[in-house]
Parts: sequence; structure tokens; C-alpha cells
Amino acid sequence: MKKIDRIHAREILDSRGYPTLEVEMHSGDLIAWAGVPSGRSTGKFEAQELRDGGPRFDGMGVTKAAANVNGLITETFKRFPLGRQQEFDEMLRGMDGTGNFSALGANAVVGASIAYAKLSALAKGVYLCDYIAGLSGQGRRMPKLFMNVLNGGWHAGNNLAVQEFHIIPEANDVDEAIEVGTALYHALQRVVKGHYNATAIGLGEEGGFNPPAANTREALDLLKEAAKQSGFEDQVRMGLDVAASTFLAEGLYVIDGKKLSSEELLKHLAAIAKAYDLFAVEDPFAEDDKLPFAELKKLFGPSRHLIGDDLTATNPDRIHAAYSDDAVNGVIIKPNQIGTLTQAIEAANLARSYGWLVVASHRSGETEDAFIADFAVGIGADAVKFGAPARGERTAKYNQLMKIFS
Ligand code: PEP
Ligand code: MG
Repeated sequence: MKKIDRIHAREILDSRGYPTLEVEMHSGDLIAWAGVPSGRSTGKFEAQELRDGGPRFDGMGVTKAAANVNGLITETFKRFPLGRQQEFDEMLRGMDGTGNFSALGANAVVGASIAYAKLSALAKGVYLCDYIAGLSGQGRRMPKLFMNVLNGGWHAGNNLAVQEFHIIPEANDVDEAIEVGTALYHALQRVVKGHYNATAIGLGEEGGFNPPAANTREALDLLKEAAKQSGFEDQVRMGLDVAASTFLAEGLYVIDGKKLSSEELLKHLAAIAKAYDLFAVEDPFAEDDKLPFAELKKLFGPSRHLIGDDLTATNPDRIHAAYSDDAVNGVIIKPNQIGTLTQAIEAANLARSYGWLVVASHRSGETEDAFIADFAVGIGADAVKFGAPARGERTAKYNQLMKIFS
């Protein structure tokens, strides 16, 4: 079996123009690279990135994380055989020892884990998605696309509290889903321009439009109108990532011109979900405001998905706790929330064993690395969140999905 000859990490830029880590790994004449994503609306229970602090790049430098890869991680894994993902990831956990990777940095760890997976797939001569499927034990299934075509919250510069407005094409294959989604995205540009003015068609951090909509309903109406104008009205559903912890202030949720208690927010969101027949609602409450999750899930019934992200943090323990609380029936899986590929796969498989919808997701800060598309297919994800079908760091993922299924 081939072995690791060299590991090298460096700073590159992410889609927000801040440094992120790229981990390069060599075995003979094979080379793999992993670009590390980074969230903005990060949950409290996520694994911890290591950032340099200080004045350089607003404190966002990752030279310390790079030094951990180039030092300790390289010393440990030089000559380590490829293809032993679980052992590799377990050793990373042991080396770090903190449980949330705050010593080595979750960015250093996820970069190493992904680069190792890519190099192992190359060494085996298999597609990356199939290498990951070998680890997860899941078969390929075509994921639904949760396309975030309109941005709010911390990802945008408008008055919308809700972070993501998704359109979800109903389609027979990936190409058709992409065609429907992009037709709607382009129609939405026209709708936004017509409804406001030409300055309203700027984009948020995930490539969705960033219009000055007054509230959640007004934004959903724009999506509905775009669906109508695209001609695919009957072929799309809608969904939200509320990311509620981002607008919780002094115990109240500041949304749509109101300050709401959990109970009031529950009613507000339940009414919106019904009026727009939403397919899925993610993080409707902050991650430690657990009680209303179960109540909303009951109101939704099985036909709507209530999805945990900050709540569950790709962490098997938190996923199990959410199951015990009957809090959700769907989960976001983001490898960098937990640290290693093995743990992310474990989280996805646990959620699947509960019958939940498994949604593999990018981060708002991304690179051109399309790993998450292979990961999604490898874990048999039911759906994916890759942002809008625009901007290179987002289209890289959609394009990889089209390659995998062509
Ligand atoms: C999300 O909240 O689902 C998301 C992708 O945003 P971020 O990466 O900023 O956490
Ligand atoms: Mg989210």
C-alpha cells in the first residue's frame, strides 16, 4: 500500500477574501489538495477553528493552523499508509485530545482528513465519492438541491433576519434540477430588479440575491413570482434556514419588525411554513432553546422537515440528544463542524438510522474545492446545500455533482 510522503499546508483565500487553509498531501507521484471551508453563523457546539488573531487579516490568518499541519501532523503521519481513514482520523482525535480540536485547530484537522481521503481515493484509483461510499456503507442516491437563491441574516446586507431562502427543484435527475434551479435564479434577478431597482440585484455571501425585502413573507413572494415567471412553478418547493441564533437578542428573537418570544416565533414560523408550503425549515430556534423544536416538529407532521444545524453540529452525541428530545426530522452534515471525515460519516449514518433527512452542506466561506459534492454522494445524502448556482466557489460543487451523475 502506498504511503504518505509529504504533507504541506499553506494559506489561500476563501470566498470572503480571508485566509483559509489548503492542505497538500503527496504519495509518490500522486498529489491531493484540500481547501478548508469556514462558517460565519457558526454554532456554539462546533469544533473550533484555529485563527492567528492579531492585526494581520483582521485576526483571521491561519499560519498557526498551517504550522500544526506542517509540524506535528506531518511528523506523526509521514510514511503512514493510505486507505486507513478511520485509523488516521482516530489518531488525529487522540493527538488533539480536547474533544473539539481546539488544540490543533478544526481547520487543520479537517484539511488533513480530507486531503488524506482524496489521496487514498487516488491511490486506489477510485472516484472520491465511491471511496467515501466505501466508508459510509451507503449507496449513491440523487440528492435534492436546496439552492439558496436569496440571502439574509449575517450572509447579506439587508433587513431580513432569516439567513437562507431555498428553492428546491423536483426533478428526475441532477441536470434537470440544475436547469430548473438556474431558470428560477435568473427569473429571480428580473423579479428583484422589477420589484425594487437595479441596485437590488447584488449578491450575498452564498451567491443568492440580497434585496431590500421588508420581511420573510416579502422575500418568499419574490421566490414564488420567480417560480411563476420561470415556468417551473409546479416543479419547485421552498425552504428556509432561519439560523435563529443570529437574531436572538436578550432572550427575544428580532425578526420581521417584531421582538418575539420562542412561543411567538413558533407561531410566526408555523404560519409561514403553512402559507408557503415549505418543504424544510432549518434552525428555527437557537441551539440552546430546545423546547420549542419538538412542538414545531409536531405541528409540521411528517410532510415538512424540521432540520437541525447549529442544534446538532454534526456531532453524534448532539444528534442522539435531538432524537431523544424528538426535536427534528432532518440534519445538516458539515464535516468541519465536527472535525474528521470519519466522525461526519458517523453523524450522517446515525441520523439516517433515525429516518431523518440527511442534508450535506457547504459553509458560507468556501473555496473552489468541490469535496462536499463527493462527500454528499458518498454518504448517500438526501439533499445538499451548496448556495446559489452562481459564483465559482458554489458552481464548483454543482458542476461536480453534474460530473458524478453524468
Ligand atoms: C448554515 O448556517 O447552514 C451555513 C451554511 O452558514 P455558515 O457556514 O455561515 O454557518
Ligand atoms: Mg444553517
